[in-house]
Amino acid sequence: MSKIVHKYGGTSVGTPEKIKNVARRVKRVHDLGNEVVVIVSAMGHTTDELINLMHQVSDTPNPREYDMLVSTGEQVSAALLAMALQSIGCPAVSLTGGQAGVVTEDIYKKARIKDIKLGRVKEELNKGKVVVITGFQGIDSKGDIITIGRGGSDTSAVAVAAALKADVCDIYTDVDGVYTTDPRIAPDARKLENISYEEMLELASLGAQVLHPRSVECASIYGITIHLRSSLKEDEGTHITSASKLEERRSKEASKMEKKEAVRGIALDENIAKIGILKVPDKPGTAAKIFGALAVEKINVDMIVQSIHLQGTLADMAFTVDRPELKKAVEVTERVAKELKAGSVVSDSDVCKVSLVGIGMVSQPGTAAKMFAALSKEKINIHMITTSEIKISCVVKKESGKKAVLALHQAFGLEKVA
Ligand code: ADP
Ligand code: ASP
Ligand code: MG
Repeated sequence: MSKIVHKYGGTSVGTPEKIKNVARRVKRVHDLGNEVVVIVSAMGHTTDELINLMHQVSDTPNPREYDMLVSTGEQVSAALLAMALQSIGCPAVSLTGGQAGVVTEDIYKKARIKDIKLGRVKEELNKGKVVVITGFQGIDSKGDIITIGRGGSDTSAVAVAAALKADVCDIYTDVDGVYTTDPRIAPDARKLENISYEEMLELASLGAQVLHPRSVECASIYGITIHLRSSLKEDEGTHITSASKLEERRSKEASKMEKKEAVRGIALDENIAKIGILKVPDKPGTAAKIFGALAVEKINVDMIVQSIHLQGTLADMAFTVDRPELKKAVEVTERVAKELKAGSVVSDSDVCKVSLVGIGMVSQPGTAAKMFAALSKEKINIHMITTSEIKISCVVKKESGKKAVLALHQAFGLEKVA
């Protein structure tokens, strides 16, 4: 008897027919004598629709009520899946995050999971039931319902798998694996058999929506392999696991020894915005003031670029934030700019970020130059650049984002079998 954790995303439970399909898959696994826990997302675009409703009644929605509202989507799909299982003769029970013992930080909208107290889940498993748990939510120390960030059901699933000490977490979605880039953008994108936690974490953090970044982080901490696969096919998907495990596998194939692809994947993040502060006094403490004020408001800042004016006393600064935080970020930046006696604050939400990711990049010089050449060939202007050992990101105009992905995918030959 094994402990099996499945997660089904929004499209996989988007209609009653699809829920019945999931129920049949889950029953087959349960019939083999396994203990099965299923984590579900809200049906289709339910979460977006709930957020849309919210904006129709309030311009300044209260974060506690936001969590009360958006967490309901998962409750619908969990209850429906439990009913669908029961109706085909498979004992099942649905539990909210709170009922399943998912305890989060006391932060609305994007809390981290602190602990999972599995008592009730184990009780139900011992009764021979499939346990269906709502993804994306838990409860805080006050007993309030808390959500853990958009796309967070992946993280709920991996956290439950870790608490249950399962080796693998199967994440079922509408693609049959992790591709070299979003197959909706590049039809010739190639499915990867496996990818390391590090590379997947970068791809996910840089905008590849296929997995919630924190799910990869959690999987790497607890040594859980994520198997990302299609909810419609039986085929193997992509295994996301530690670089050392992958290295072990690769080194067995002599021909592949030392052969590392510099670039493993490309991510596009269309959910960013750029803020610039002009003529900031160029002296110690300025950056600390600006970014300290943003941190106090829990606004995540990503790329930061500073250019020095020729006379050397003033600098221009630019940075990116997640688009939904733009309004608040501009307010905070304007306030600090005034205090610093800086020039004007400008913002641009018509931008996106395209990134190359690959552990092999560090040992292959020229990757950045090749990236810039490919973008320039397409006449795509680069606004900002950041690099690390395993990624290079460029901010470009939003209208050029998909074109940039296609150009880079081709330039690095990612469609070819490695
Ligand atoms: P779910 O609702 O199951 O959580 P998501 O919509 O969040 O599914 O994620 C799946 C989508 O991620 C795919 O439909 C695909 O368009 C997109 N995607 C982005 N980058 C990649 C990638 N590198 N590989 C596979 N899919 C990707
Ligand atoms: N339903 C939530 C969302 O749309 C969580 C998830 O799908 O993972 O963000
Ligand atoms: Mg998702």
